[in-house]
Amino acid sequence: MRTQGQLVERLKSSGVIKHADVERAMRECDRKHYVDGGIPAAYAYQDSPLPIGYHETISAPHMHATCLELLREHLTEGARVLDVGSGSGYLAAAMGVMVGDTGKVVGIEKHPELVEQSIANLRKDHPELLDDGMVELRTGNVLGDALDGEEPFDAIHVGAAASTLPDVLVKKLAPGGRMVIPVGSQWDYQVMQCIDKDEGGQVHKHDLMYVRYVPLTEPGEAW
Ligand code: SAH
Repeated sequence: MRTQGQLVERLKSSGVIKHADVERAMRECDRKHYVDGGIPAAYAYQDSPLPIGYHETISAPHMHATCLELLREHLTEGARVLDVGSGSGYLAAAMGVMVGDTGKVVGIEKHPELVEQSIANLRKDHPELLDDGMVELRTGNVLGDALDGEEPFDAIHVGAAASTLPDVLVKKLAPGGRMVIPVGSQWDYQVMQCIDKDEGGQVHKHDLMYVRYVPLTEPGEAW
């Protein structure tokens, strides 16, 4: 695959992209701007994770598409969204396209250098998302106090694996909101869980699929 359009067509024909809003967001965010500059452009459109530096990776396009599909009913115009472990910034940008001018995506990432890099990536692809405040990318550890007082969020995407479901994130979910998060052994496979908070504040979980993500680290952890 040589273009973002071809990658999107492949994800559609394999049934990963199902809805027009997800298709549009993925068409409008070109993966070549989010992979490490040293990687030949042709690799950008492979459906696999790629290095972005600091031992981290940009997720595979089918995982980005899967998470957008799972969250899409909550990624509506004006929604408040949290992207945990925003890494390359790809998903934050795609969600920014979906929530529109009146929405807000906060991306949080523990490596300051990756935050700088992700801001530079968005500058190349979608400067208006940064300039008009639809996407904000910041440094911090989500399991610390970096987001104190920032709840609630209508949608939360977690791009790193938690050993158990973090209460601090469940608390940040708005009534009626949804979180997708990989939970399980951090050095093995995990289960992607869908966490729905109903209007009464009750939390409902269901398991979706086995996945493999890098660990969601505690503040002060060396990795
Ligand atoms: N969705 C991103 C995935 C990046 S990999 C993308 O496709 O580009 C997951 C990211 O989570 C890593 O960059 C890692 O540094 C970050 N991370 C891990 N634990 C974290 C924590 N507790 N708080 C914030 N970021 C964290």
